[in-house]
Amino acid sequence: MTPKFRVFATCDIGPSIDLLRKRGYDVEVYPHPEPPPKSLIIEKLKSGVDGLITTLRDQIDAEIFEAGKGTLKVISQIAVGFDNISRADANRYKVPFTNTADVLTDATAEFAFFMMGALARRLWTSEHITRDNQWGFWHPHLPFLGDEVTGKTAAIIGTGRIGLSMIKKCSGFDMNVLCYDPAYENRDFVEAIQAEMDHRHKTGLTHEKTWIKYVSFEEAMRGADFVSVHVPLLRTGETATPTYHLFNEHTLKLMKPTAFLINTSRGPVIDEAALARALKENWIAGAALDVYEKEPLPKDSPLRDPAIEDRCRLMPHFASQARITRLSTDPAKGMAGRCAQGLIDVLEANYGGDPAKMPYVVNKEAFAK
Ligand code: NAD
Repeated sequence: MTPKFRVFATCDIGPSIDLLRKRGYDVEVYPHPEPPPKSLIIEKLKSGVDGLITTLRDQIDAEIFEAGKGTLKVISQIAVGFDNISRADANRYKVPFTNTADVLTDATAEFAFFMMGALARRLWTSEHITRDNQWGFWHPHLPFLGDEVTGKTAAIIGTGRIGLSMIKKCSGFDMNVLCYDPAYENRDFVEAIQAEMDHRHKTGLTHEKTWIKYVSFEEAMRGADFVSVHVPLLRTGETATPTYHLFNEHTLKLMKPTAFLINTSRGPVIDEAALARALKENWIAGAALDVYEKEPLPKDSPLRDPAIEDRCRLMPHFASQARITRLSTDPAKGMAGRCAQGLIDVLEANYGGDPAKMPYVVNKEAFAK
């Protein structure tokens, strides 16, 4: 039997690969955990691949589209962020690309919330004390105190899918919420959260009244005890409000010296050299990061400085790294399932073969009639 379509996957996305094979697809999976060199992706594309499954580690630009010219029909990325894909080049070559929004929203937001808690209550240092046999006594304030999140104020920078999910988690912990988003203010959502906060107070479930509101970036930074970042990486020229180095020497200094920064979005949103200084010189109280300017985090990163170890939590881009979120073959639940379905939609010409109507296609504008 002639395979229906040829697909090259730059990484193993689990059982969803079998799902494609069962449909008769000829799927080749790059067998190593590290990303393949770009030259190999180009070689595969030149050999006539219909669909390419990518991760955020693959640089997808004009060189890639040129190599796939005439045969490459779709790029299916297993991630919601797509800053590694040149949208302009995809549009020029008229290749639709898909992402896996929504299915990782809650997993990412809960990880951000847990990172915030771990940072504030100094869980890493606390466990070290226990494991290293430094736990000599119970004492009212020694060897250190943590900070509660309950009753504090969180600033949510970027109120898209993950930002809104984070707000739900913060409001569940009786936190006040400052929201900032220059592109779209979801007033209905904020009103619904405020109504729920008011209800909890009225019925005696909470003692203190809590609140939520949209404010300017500066107000959010100045007013927050915790700043949690949920923006896409947008560089100058890609938008009127770029996020590249949004957190820099100037903006970090707006934060309270007792405040914490949590980033589960993309590394280049933070100027890491400035953040390392902010931590070392106590402009802010701490930071928890899941993403970095360069990944994996280089050995000589200033963020690894032992002098800031107790207030700088470093995670290995793990926010969506949860069982169902990552590998479920159900496109309504798993990134892998949604990634495979995005590929199928384009290759099998679902939705009347119109990429502009396909739910997981990102660059719909290239196909608008
Ligand atoms: P989304 O598009 O739903 O939300 C992003 C929001 O940011 C939008 O509302 C947008 O208006 C806003 N925004 C844009 N520019 C801004 C600016 N300058 N200042 C403040 N807000 C701005 O996206 P999402 O699904 O919520 O995902 C957000 C990002 O999180 C993704 O782009 C991805 O890079 C990252 N992410 C990381 C992980 C991880 O594993 N660490 C997992 C999932 C997503």
